[in-house]
Amino acid sequence: MKRIIVCVKPVPDPKHWGRVSMDPDTMTLRREVIPSIVNPLDKHAIEAGLSVRDSFGGEVVLLSMAPPSAQPLLREGLAMGADRAVLLSDPVFAGSDTLATSLILAAGCRYIGDFDLIFLGNMSIDGSTAQVCSQLAELLGLPNVMHVTGLSWTNEGKVIITRKIENGFSKLVGIPPLVLSVRKELNKPRYVPFTGILAAESKEIRVLSNNDLKIDPSQIGLAGSPTKMAGLEIRRFERKRERLEGSPEEIVRKLMDKIYQIGVI
Ligand SMILES: Cc1cc2nc3c(=O)[nH]c(=O)nc-3n(C[C@H](O)[C@H](O)[C@H](O)COP(=O)(O)OP(=O)(O)OC[C@H]3O[C@@H](n4cnc5c(N)ncnc54)[C@H](O)[C@@H]3O)c2cc1C
Repeated sequence: MKRIIVCVKPVPDPKHWGRVSMDPDTMTLRREVIPSIVNPLDKHAIEAGLSVRDSFGGEVVLLSMAPPSAQPLLREGLAMGADRAVLLSDPVFAGSDTLATSLILAAGCRYIGDFDLIFLGNMSIDGSTAQVCSQLAELLGLPNVMHVTGLSWTNEGKVIITRKIENGFSKLVGIPPLVLSVRKELNKPRYVPFTGILAAESKEIRVLSNNDLKIDPSQIGLAGSPTKMAGLEIRRFERKRERLEGSPEEIVRKLMDKIYQIGVI
């Protein structure tokens, strides 16, 4: 094995989702106002990459498209045991939809080069489109398997992939290079030892801009994204503050009528 790339996305920490807001001008999330975490499934993707490396050698490279503030999150993956990280960061990437994101990640993968496997999480907990894996594979011209729950290897270097399907599991045999996205059933992300945290401090995080990737700017960022938000409606929940009067029996009857009228029963 030469190289395994793991795509890692910073996402808003669910503990602070109550503070998430949208920018009404760009109709995108205001990500900078709340802390980020590594997308939970991406930790399973990192574990998958580390397990393959531990068995067959090579290096694990983390790849993220995110603002420079994502560096501490990449250090978490380096502390788990990844060898180095590449952060794709440039103001021209801001506002990218899933296609533009995949285009940027594909350029990052080509820049890193010489990879056998690319692991991703099956979906993020913020965008949750589950589109990036197959778009990335398509842009790189590689086979793609999603919903991966098991991996084993033949003596000839082929990968036996178990994937979750609607009513069970299917098994596929693949020959690297492959792009795989993983479910949480695949593995348990390893415990990060203190020595891992110390070692991560001296591992390389290379930050690349579009000067390095040279993607046509008209294909990326908000302007280059074919997904256009047509509108944004913020739902507001307010109590009606209605008071039902009468005897307990009358109140119950009125309450039942209201519940019936709003279609709950
Ligand atoms: C008009 C518009 C503007 C947007 N502007 C922004 C913006 O300014 N900033 C922003 O962060 N998002 C922005 N988004 C959201 C952005 O498109 C998605 O978050 C992103 O493309 C990934 O989609 P997803 O989260 O649904 O990924 P999924 O397909 O659900 O993710 C699957 C896996 O792909 C990998 N992955 C996904 N994204 C990344 C990434 N960035 N780096 C590394 N790996 C990744 C991870 O392994 C992840 O587990 C915008 C979306 C739209 C429609």
